[in-house]
Amino acid sequence: MLLFTPGPTPVLESVRQAMATPTLHHRTPEFESIFAQARGKMIDMFGMDECVFLASSGTGAMQACMLNLCHTKALTVKAGKFGERFGKIADALHIPKVELSYSWDTPASVEDIKQALISNLDIDAIFIQICESAGGLRHPVEEIAKVAKSINKDIMVIADGITAVGVEPIDTTHIDALIAGSQKAFMLPPGLAMIGLSSVAVDKIGGGRDFYFNLATEIKNQQKNTTAWTATTTLIAGLNAMLDEIEKSGGRQHLFSQTRKRAKATLGALKGLNLHIYPSSPALSMSTVIDDDAEAIRKLLKTKYGVNIAGGQDHLKGKIFRINQMGLIPVHESAWVVNAIELALDDLGRRDFDGTASKIFSEIYFEEN
Ligand SMILES: *Cc1c(COP(=O)(O)O)cnc(C)c1O
Repeated sequence: MLLFTPGPTPVLESVRQAMATPTLHHRTPEFESIFAQARGKMIDMFGMDECVFLASSGTGAMQACMLNLCHTKALTVKAGKFGERFGKIADALHIPKVELSYSWDTPASVEDIKQALISNLDIDAIFIQICESAGGLRHPVEEIAKVAKSINKDIMVIADGITAVGVEPIDTTHIDALIAGSQKAFMLPPGLAMIGLSSVAVDKIGGGRDFYFNLATEIKNQQKNTTAWTATTTLIAGLNAMLDEIEKSGGRQHLFSQTRKRAKATLGALKGLNLHIYPSSPALSMSTVIDDDAEAIRKLLKTKYGVNIAGGQDHLKGKIFRINQMGLIPVHESAWVVNAIELALDDLGRRDFDGTASKIFSEIYFEEN
């Protein structure tokens, strides 16, 4: 069965092997060396000044950023489950918030953000997804970050890049915290979160509002290649191996261009089957279709064609399906997925199979640079 859900993603054999080596004690030179390598490579991947690893799923990193970088009022952007989560974290931590809401297919408007910041001068941090995974939507985060800094140069911009870091190049000029997670573009089991930080954010962190997620404590330790609490040794060894795999396969720019080509080819093939792409600004990390037969298509893919793709949640349950594009995916696997969708549409009596999806996929993939 091909695992094509936008997280978790499959784990490469070489990475599984790296994680199958005997467990190292975390306070040893052997582990610290692996930690130092993984940390250096992640700082490069983020393109930022600092990187912190946390033993948690991605949500832990979202909470850590809010605890450490927001002190007066948060601006949160809800265009799906993950944006909504930032709002819920603020509520749970009793941090006042202004929330901008959008339909799950619609990206945040730079103008709305601008107005919210002008009317709420006490907002000291913005929280937004780069890709809102609920509907496969790309928010214009770089532009939002730039405008936010022009209104308030001290504002902190926290970008949840769990389905964007390792997918596409991100301009971090105006971003202070960039969140990534192990189980999406980094093709690892869940349980490790990574945060890229600007030096301004590092300076702002402090005050100790939390114990486990106190980033000041973590930064102090991680700069010495150790962690405040027991490190997720196995996952960090896996991350180190995965970052080596990315390097071996041609480096991160190559990974980004392969991902873009696969995403564009998939989108073209789906449109060629007259399927409707759900978000008005599709992200590269996943391809999302809205369709009355979404569940039937998903079921056929799973039972007849050996492909596991994701459905939707909440009001989109049964209405959309999402195909992963994150990670080092062999192009023939992605080509098979669109082909399988065309076969499923034939099974459902919606069109006669004639290889349209494969044809369009290949045309776009091999033409795109
Ligand atoms: C998967 C995901 C998360 C993290 O969820 P966890 O289950 O806590 O790992 C956060 N944001 C986005 C956009 C995601 O896709």
